[in-house]
Amino acid sequence: MIRKAAICDREGCLALFVAPADLPDDQPFETALTAADWEADGAAGHACPGCVRGTGPVLERGECPRCCGSTVDLSHGASCHYCGHVTPHPPEDDFFDLG
Ligand SMILES: [Zn+2]
Ligand SMILES: [Zn+2]
Repeated sequence: MIRKAAICDREGCLALFVAPADLPDDQPFETALTAADWEADGAAGHACPGCVRGTGPVLERGECPRCCGSTVDLSHGASCHYCGHVTPHPPEDDFFDLG
């Protein structure tokens, strides 16, 4: 299966959105894209959530599931530098949390 992806069309932005593996077959890719706060405009192309918020462009790739931007580990999860999305740590992490 080929997973759809979109890139941010703003100059210098490395943001990338890949369709989730669990995206239902009957759900359009654009729906998943806008659900992740991306904006799709036929003329202007795609804009990542960071660029939409004014916190872009993404200059460094990382683990963010919404824009592939780099993230920083905070106590409550991995926070994206660009779009602000927080990916909660897996519960297992609690066992190793010595802080
Ligand atoms: Zn962008
Ligand atoms: Zn992000």
